[in-house]
Amino acid sequence: MRAFFFKPFSINPAKRYKLKQNMETILRIAVQKSGRLSEKTQELLKLCGLDFNSGTSQLKIKANNFPLEVLFLRDDDIPGYVASGVADIGIVGENGVDEKLVTVDTIHKLGFAKCRVSIAIPRRFEYTGTDYLEGKRIATSYPNILKKFLKEKGVNAEVSEISGSVEIAPAIGLADAICDIVSTGSTLLANGLKEVETFYKSEAVLIATPGMNGEKKPLLDKLVFRIKAVQKAKKNKYIILNAPNHKVDEIARILPGMKSPTITPLAIEGWSALYSVVAEDEFWEICEKLHEAGAEGILVVPIEKMIY
Ligand code: ATP
Ligand code: MG
Repeated sequence: MRAFFFKPFSINPAKRYKLKQNMETILRIAVQKSGRLSEKTQELLKLCGLDFNSGTSQLKIKANNFPLEVLFLRDDDIPGYVASGVADIGIVGENGVDEKLVTVDTIHKLGFAKCRVSIAIPRRFEYTGTDYLEGKRIATSYPNILKKFLKEKGVNAEVSEISGSVEIAPAIGLADAICDIVSTGSTLLANGLKEVETFYKSEAVLIATPGMNGEKKPLLDKLVFRIKAVQKAKKNKYIILNAPNHKVDEIARILPGMKSPTITPLAIEGWSALYSVVAEDEFWEICEKLHEAGAEGILVVPIEKMIY
């Protein structure tokens, strides 16, 4: 007689993970597909430990190790998608958010894509203040933030919206002035323009659908926690040094540390090693003081994450 063995219902682990993912609450993040924000955005998400494949032409990708779905979009569309809840969160320039006149919650400033929005006029003209702009034609890709500024200053000007290459507008007779994003000013210079008003400062921000709560909120909190740890780490360095024991107290006073420096004896009699964390902007000053105080073999190491 043939024996029949009952094979219990089983799914392979990859399928099981996919099934679990389908049932899980997923946070949807909208990021710029390509442009000034995209590289730094992806770098930040990867430093937050999120593993997703960004090298394909797929515009919607699930992270392999976090309940997150990444949507790759044009940055102009991100505030609208987040405001309407199509995406839960997004990374975009502050100027992009204000330009769209939509309501989103700004969760956290991200410290990259720093730029300013300025008005520029041809170099040959003398700028006399905002009254110079009265009755002038100003070309811009940011009509809403420009109009807000003009209104605040009580200036009546004709604002014409163009989507790119704004700097060329005065040279081809399209406008008397322009309003655009400036970072170094070299594009303005190359097009015979000078910056006369800077009225808006921007950087990349994490935005969320207004009043997000429920199951997605803990996921957002988790992500923000990681972002803060990455940002803090970038602003600090880990420092390791050797010092003769009679200098340890003096050197320890120079080192700030998260609480206090860690001190361990070296194998050589009469010497110790000190470990501490130093803020990037105080770093050189502290190193000089340490050296003067008798520290030797100073090593400086970047920190990947920092959690308090
Ligand atoms: P497109 O929508 O076609 O992708 P864009 O001009 O809107 O083009 P980017 O040039 O990639 O997009 O700019 C996106 C955001 O990056 C801007 O809204 C601004 O916040 C920031 N940004 C733009 N230019 C600079 C710059 N030179 N330096 C730093 N940040 C910038
Ligand atoms: Mg854009």
